[in-house]
Amino acid sequence: MSNWPELESKYYMHTVDRVPLVLVRGEGARVWDDSGRQYLDFVAGWAVNSLGHAHPAIARAVAGQASTLIQTSNQFYTIPQIQLAELLVKNSCLDKVFFSNSGAEANEGAVKLARRYGQYHLAGAYEVISTYGSFHGRTLAMVAATGQVNHQKPFLPLPTGFVNVAYDDPEAIQAVTSARTCAVMLEPVQGEGGVNLPGDDYLKKVRDWCDRKGILLILDEIQTGMGRLGTLFAYEQYGIVPDIMTLAKGLGGGVPIGALMAKDKVCVFVPGEHGSTYGGNPLACAAAYATLKYVLDHNLVSNAGKVGQYLLDGLEKLKQKYEVVIDVRGRGLLVAIEFNQDIGASLLAACLERGLLVNRVKPNALRLMPPLTIGNDEVDEALGILDKALSSIA
Ligand SMILES: *Cc1c(COP(=O)(O)O)cnc(C)c1O
Repeated sequence: MSNWPELESKYYMHTVDRVPLVLVRGEGARVWDDSGRQYLDFVAGWAVNSLGHAHPAIARAVAGQASTLIQTSNQFYTIPQIQLAELLVKNSCLDKVFFSNSGAEANEGAVKLARRYGQYHLAGAYEVISTYGSFHGRTLAMVAATGQVNHQKPFLPLPTGFVNVAYDDPEAIQAVTSARTCAVMLEPVQGEGGVNLPGDDYLKKVRDWCDRKGILLILDEIQTGMGRLGTLFAYEQYGIVPDIMTLAKGLGGGVPIGALMAKDKVCVFVPGEHGSTYGGNPLACAAAYATLKYVLDHNLVSNAGKVGQYLLDGLEKLKQKYEVVIDVRGRGLLVAIEFNQDIGASLLAACLERGLLVNRVKPNALRLMPPLTIGNDEVDEALGILDKALSSIA
């Protein structure tokens, strides 16, 4: 058998410290490594595999489309693209869509659109306010939007036109809003930053401020959208509507696709100003259509809410049991458990040993984001492993 980690270190750029597992196969909420060992997957490709692994609905859609039409130049109409756009618009508060290949790219499109809107309607305003602890992607502009020093510092100088302020602090946004501001860009819940939930009225206050100033509210729902928080989109839980919304991750159920969505009044691109060779290709759109259709037809959104609450309740019991657990938080199936010491790495290893994959989102916190198809029995299994893992190191 090949030594894959050794070959990887020889041929692949070292951009991530890997978990020592070579995954070769998946089914539902489970994956298998190259030695045949099975794991319960509470990472799900970073909240991507909404229907779990190797779901027949996605596999069928991809195989069917691959043998029909994978890619055309985007100057031609293709049916899966239009069908997916219609399904997304009909199930959201936004009016139009543009498809990209990733989340960062969708966010780039959002900022370009906001700047173009600023040129038409806000006397050339171009600046975007975003928050510390956010994550908006890895392109240079999105690194500037991502308010985390560790993502920014290695790549200075960053593109200008971004201002970072504290999260969950509407006044911080008000304080830096100026004639240059065209938009505020936020995650409804910060995902990569540690599953940080804002106060219940935060988004409402920011929405009111944006309305008062005539500036745009961009919601990055790349992680929170597509049912993960127990509603199809997170904004539904906060009683507001964004002007622009971006999606990716769960959208394609594992096949790369992102979406930029906007209200009609914001759709100011004219032909030639934005585009993508692969964006909106029939293959990815067929996969995303099959994923979303399945999510809607099988009530996976309410399943995420119910099973998510069951998971939170179970974690709350672990918090009562173990002093090292200081916080349990989340909504739907985006959940974090935080400790009073930096035991994230050793706990991850202890879970791995017992057959559970989790994400160490901070040195002292784990993030859980299983497929939306998960049931209480699988949550019980994960909770049992977490319990044993905690007792082994706490
Ligand atoms: C993952 C993520 C992104 C970046 O998506 P990519 O597909 O990796 O470019 C942007 N915003 C949020 C909130 C994310 O979770």
